Amino acid sequence: MPYESKPLKTWKMAKDLIDRHFQEIKNAKARGKILVGSAGVLPAEILSGMDVEWIFGEVYAAVNAFNWKDSPELHEACEKRGYDRNLCHYMKCYLSSLFLDKGFMGTYPKTPDFCISEGECTTHGKWMEIVSKHLNVPFFDLDHPYDIVDEAPRGEHFVDYYVSQFYEFIEWMQKVTGIKWEEEKFFEGYRNTFEVKRLWSDITNLNKAIPAPLDLKSMATLMVPAIHIYLKKEAVEFYKLLLEEVQERVEKKIAANPLEDLRFAFCSMPPWHALPDLRRMDNYGATFVAASYNFHWGTDWWEAADGTIGRPDWVGKEPRDLDEALRHVAERMLGHPLRIEAQIKTHTKIVKEYQIGALVYHGCRGCEGFLRGHDWLLKPMKELGVRCMAFEGSQADPRDYTVAQVHDRMDVFLESLGLKDHGKKEEKIKA
Ligand code: SF4
Repeated sequence: MPYESKPLKTWKMAKDLIDRHFQEIKNAKARGKILVGSAGVLPAEILSGMDVEWIFGEVYAAVNAFNWKDSPELHEACEKRGYDRNLCHYMKCYLSSLFLDKGFMGTYPKTPDFCISEGECTTHGKWMEIVSKHLNVPFFDLDHPYDIVDEAPRGEHFVDYYVSQFYEFIEWMQKVTGIKWEEEKFFEGYRNTFEVKRLWSDITNLNKAIPAPLDLKSMATLMVPAIHIYLKKEAVEFYKLLLEEVQERVEKKIAANPLEDLRFAFCSMPPWHALPDLRRMDNYGATFVAASYNFHWGTDWWEAADGTIGRPDWVGKEPRDLDEALRHVAERMLGHPLRIEAQIKTHTKIVKEYQIGALVYHGCRGCEGFLRGHDWLLKPMKELGVRCMAFEGSQADPRDYTVAQVHDRMDVFLESLGLKDHGKKEEKIKA
């Protein structure tokens, strides 16, 4: 007997919030705001000490990728300038937009006052260096101290070093913009950030319920405020309403997929140009209920200094002073689970807590960070009894994604799991 399913009431609110945010970026200069170009998962709370709008490189590239799905020639702008096809596909999608002055907002948003990158991935620094040279604007490169927590607990000196750069960055921002950085504004952005992360974590935790109230394709949109709009109060207000609605769905057993039977996890970035494929397996009762990239990067599931994954006990508490607040920002950044050991721990937690039976791994050619360690990651998942399937593709470039091949693989995998196509669903969550 299928579960009840119905569209999310807050869906339109999510779309409006995201559209408004991009409009605010587009009109930033006309509204007297500082416009910042960035790459990488950024300690953006620090930017909130000034009136900024901020173009997050990966999000900008992902939305372009979605819009350029039928225009592969737009991805060639970079290659025509000599950039190798195998470089990060987010970076190339972003740079192609910059070089062509074409993108989902019409043109590339003009003109950032400065660029900043965070070195969690080696691509970030070069990416923003190219942008700053092309636009002739200043560039600050934050160094990410890489930890080895599996060999020893992450020492306080990592936080000391990182926070010392934050102070340097604050000074630098004031110098290049001529505008005062205000502690009060920073604290507002700080509180919004950690409240957004806490709320989005609570929402995604509710997907542990059977049936799952949300599916991955919807979450690919619903996560955007947690990744890019978290400095703004509107994002807090939106997630409060979404949390209420998702709680109600769990209580009333309203499913994202009425045919939910086997619970799947998706591993690595989604192919933004082929999002409907995340729902391709719905009719088989196979439902993506969890994904490390899609929702845990926006949550407060961070890797603590002792190597555990989860919400730190200081989330939701008011920091004593600026220094403690900046140390929390540093811990958030240092706790991102990009290292393969941290990814294994995150996926193990997902598999156990979300009752995952099968996992689909996207061998993403466009990301050096996620493509490596494929065997290391899948072996422990198989040892947990999870059936795994892998396919090759790209997060942003449709030229590296062969639709027929991916669909064939999915069909064969589902049949090998004994799942059958139950035909079209009557009702779907809106997406
Ligand atoms: S290579 Fe991967 S982690 Fe690095 S910037 Fe590109 S998408 Fe992000």
